[in-house]
Amino acid sequence: MGGYLIYLAIIIIIPIWAQMKVKSAYTKYSKIPTSAGMSGAEVARRILDENGLENVAVKETQGVLSDHYNPMNKTVYLSSSNYHHHSVAGAAVAAHEVGHAIQDKEGYAALRFRHALVPVVNITSKFAWIFIMIGILVTALPNFLLIGIILMAAGVIFQMVTLPVEFNASSRAMDQIVSLGLISNAEERDARKVLNAAAMTYVAAAAVAVLELIRLILIFTNITRND
Ligand SMILES: [Zn+2]
Repeated sequence: MGGYLIYLAIIIIIPIWAQMKVKSAYTKYSKIPTSAGMSGAEVARRILDENGLENVAVKETQGVLSDHYNPMNKTVYLSSSNYHHHSVAGAAVAAHEVGHAIQDKEGYAALRFRHALVPVVNITSKFAWIFIMIGILVTALPNFLLIGIILMAAGVIFQMVTLPVEFNASSRAMDQIVSLGLISNAEERDARKVLNAAAMTYVAAAAVAVLELIRLILIFTNITRND
């Protein structure tokens, strides 16, 4: 029981800690203006054009940290603050989202695999818990738990594939804003801090998903061993 409480604390605290890190890094560096003085929208536009992505639009979207790239309509969406203001955080986030647009253009393998998994995970994540609950509650039906674990593993793979996609978008972002001179050398370190903090939220989510899967596998081996 004590072990389980520790486990629960870990899977709850890890994501909260990561969210707090990204919020504090973002709040801090969204107040620090870049010497280049370009808004997030201008940074995104410049990198897109430099990479032959004149067809990709840059639009404003509501919410805080709601920035994303939509491959369906080839649009980089930036939250209002990042879109209009010029800050180290805004430039870093804008460049990161353009990093996804460049991945899309190049057919980056991890991104393609991730997209292919979306419809699969949409289905498996709906049914995994039903099988898992039946498998745990009805001890005569351990195979339901096994099916649930396999369905859930698809979601874990999805979370794992998200990691190279995010890290790669951030490293492309840094390459671009540095080589195009959109931030100064002194600002480079701060921009990297913002992107690293954002990446940690994905690492936290993946870690929790893996832990959850391991816990279910342990439950399964316990049930089948007692038979
Ligand atoms: Zn991203």
